[in-house]
Amino acid sequence: MSTLWFEKALLKSGWQSGVLLTLADGRVTAIETDVPSPKDASVERHAIGIPGMPNLHSHAFQRVIAGLTERRTSEQDSFWSWREQMYKFQARIGPDELQTIAALAYMEMLEAGFTRVGEFHYLHHGVDGRTFADPAEMAGRIVAAAEATGIGLTLLPVFYAHAGFGGLAPTPGQARFIHDLDGFQRLLEASREQAARLDDALVGIAPHSLRAVTPEELTALVPMAQGAPIHIHIAEQVKEVEDCLAHTGRRPVEWLFDHAPINDQWCLVHATHMMADETARLARSGAIAGLCPITEANLGDGVFPARDYLKQGGRFGIGSDSNVLISAAEELRLLEYGQRLVHRERNVLDNLYVRALDGAQALGVESGIAVGQPADIVSLDCELDSFVFASARSPVDCVWRHGRKQVSGGRHVKRDTLLADYRRLMQKLTA
Ligand code: ZN
Repeated sequence: MSTLWFEKALLKSGWQSGVLLTLADGRVTAIETDVPSPKDASVERHAIGIPGMPNLHSHAFQRVIAGLTERRTSEQDSFWSWREQMYKFQARIGPDELQTIAALAYMEMLEAGFTRVGEFHYLHHGVDGRTFADPAEMAGRIVAAAEATGIGLTLLPVFYAHAGFGGLAPTPGQARFIHDLDGFQRLLEASREQAARLDDALVGIAPHSLRAVTPEELTALVPMAQGAPIHIHIAEQVKEVEDCLAHTGRRPVEWLFDHAPINDQWCLVHATHMMADETARLARSGAIAGLCPITEANLGDGVFPARDYLKQGGRFGIGSDSNVLISAAEELRLLEYGQRLVHRERNVLDNLYVRALDGAQALGVESGIAVGQPADIVSLDCELDSFVFASARSPVDCVWRHGRKQVSGGRHVKRDTLLADYRRLMQKLTA
């Protein structure tokens, strides 16, 4: 059992002063408010307490190319030329490499205030494309990285079968992602076994995109989730919208709503390119939009129609996606600034941090500091709005995840070891 006191804390019921939290077995077991600063040395005292932020969308291994693809390689670089570079690097990432890279990424997520990650995991097979004896060998390394860092995990094994609309055969660069439905069922079962060794991990599913999954496959996949979250990449790129229109006569989000039972079990990742009626359908559906503003800017995807979506009651969360930069504050700032630049207004989305906590639904959990909830708590050295808008350096001080203090003084408790492992790996990969 431990006790934390905050000058001010953002509880599920709103901001309160003099907040005393009792934690036991990873959860908040009691909350008192208007408590004066305790003299008792066994009570830790902190300035501002806020709930940990869910990170809805990560491809942990892509952290390894952060900063390595920012020079033009052809007349016009795009998402698709970036993807070629990413595929080249990925060919050198086996189980050990994946675990080291994911541990670094998850450590940085905790230090940034993210307390649970949705890992959209598609690097399933060996570097030669052959399957491992344990179909969840690679997924197990994601679980090991979550275990080493303490981050909460919602593992989303990806179903990927085709290179494009119309059931196109996969390219050699995609060999490591590929399953048929039976193979995917085996992967799911083995992934659930791996995840069971963590405190409160969940396993959902992720049909990769409408490009990579046929309509028949998508229909077969939905019940395989057994009620757990379903995530899908959708309408991230204009080319994807054009290809979908050419093959189906429908736009991606429109097609998905016409062919799948979209509800609060779903997370539509990106959903950047939507017409007004698609935005309205998504807002009304109960699904979460998984927005990744840093990656969407980095890859030149476009700007999500957030103002119109929120006006219609739409809900969203944020994701660090390619992990080119891991920062909850920066994701939110860029989301809001994109809207300000497009609409030439200020405070377009308003109360951003609290709104983005809605994303927890897409990870199959609840968010917020309340009795009975997991003790996933972040302490800040400054006010919340300064954290989001006015801090070049991270003001995250401590982070508790499932009641354990994983970050102290802004540093993960295992930072030195995890960083040394990562540096050794980078020397090997870039030699
Ligand atoms: Zn993604």
